[in-house]
Amino acid sequence: MTAPVLVLVDHTQAGAVRAPVRELLTLARELAGPAGVHAAWAVDGVEPSADVVAELAALGATHVHRLVADADLHLSAVLAEALASLLDATGADLLLAVSSFENKEAAARLAVSTGAGVVTDADGLARVDGRYVAAKTVFAGTWTTSCAVTAPLAIVTVKPNSVQPSTVDGGTAQVGEHVVTVSDKARRVALVERTERPASGRPDLGSASVVVAGGRGTEGDFSVVEQLADVLGGAVGATRVATDEGWIGHDAQIGQTGVTIAPRLYVGVGVSGAVHHRGGMQASGTIVAVNSDPDAPIFEIADFGVVGDLFTVIPQAVEEIRRLKG
Ligand SMILES: Cc1cc2nc3c(=O)[nH]c(=O)nc-3n(C[C@H](O)[C@H](O)[C@H](O)COP(=O)(O)OP(=O)(O)OC[C@H]3O[C@@H](n4cnc5c(N)ncnc54)[C@H](O)[C@@H]3O)c2cc1C
Repeated sequence: MTAPVLVLVDHTQAGAVRAPVRELLTLARELAGPAGVHAAWAVDGVEPSADVVAELAALGATHVHRLVADADLHLSAVLAEALASLLDATGADLLLAVSSFENKEAAARLAVSTGAGVVTDADGLARVDGRYVAAKTVFAGTWTTSCAVTAPLAIVTVKPNSVQPSTVDGGTAQVGEHVVTVSDKARRVALVERTERPASGRPDLGSASVVVAGGRGTEGDFSVVEQLADVLGGAVGATRVATDEGWIGHDAQIGQTGVTIAPRLYVGVGVSGAVHHRGGMQASGTIVAVNSDPDAPIFEIADFGVVGDLFTVIPQAVEEIRRLKG
């Protein structure tokens, strides 16, 4: 195999590499041949610092491309054109991106324009008999499927928490600039304003490796849910009941009509485990449930369950975790 693997590097406005990108680079390193791993950094007002380049190199990137366009790279049409140009220039046969709404939109546009095969929300990827084969769970985590890309170019978006990130010793990356002139078609939408939401200090719900979710059982008091999330370094999620009641914002809703998550650890606190909620969390690695009703459906899918009052159980758990952490 001679083609390199291209990885789209999601980064914050402060210039930090987002955590799931580390997983992508680890995966790319395993799949790439001697042609190496090329990282694409969209220069949208934020440049990759020397520390960031060193971090990308330690994760296996052999090249870092500063992607510069004469239009706003936050727009999926612009990003898709810029990536198409970079794929062409590098000769990469695989583009990996984190499964976010924005990246999936860009991936779809890119697949249409390049004739690539696209798989979204993969949780694994291998090269089998010369083809990229992605693993993905479907139907609320009840089935695992393998999707082989049959086109010469593969675009795969990977769900956070799918790969254990690792680094290599002594890696160095060549930094270059790739300048793109985008078409009038891609300029049909202009971004007029963009405001980053104030950070809560907790990880992003969609990519967090630990999520503590609260339901109706909290009766609107999310303080215990937040305490457990904070002691575990996790994100706070909720059921639709809790968001509809206004106990927490709608962006915290997990489920069929909310966010789909696959953390390594999910803790459901006063959550019944209704089918619409399960649809968004059933693919979690380990599921823990705290519920006063021993017949609550969530116990059917839980790896560990505690039957009890959450206002008694959770503070005890928080205290014990704090004690163990010293
Ligand atoms: C079209 C459609 C889409 C939907 N989409 C979503 C979605 O995306 N996400 C979602 O979450 N829901 C969704 N719903 C709603 C879903 O069907 C359920 O109504 C909802 O998930 C239930 O939320 P809950 O578990 O908080 O509440 P409940 O089902 O009322 O469960 C509360 C649980 O808390 C337990 N409890 C009560 N007090 C305590 C206590 N002190 N200690 C411990 N446990 C206690 C109870 O035993 C109970 O099991 C959707 C519904 C429809 C019709």
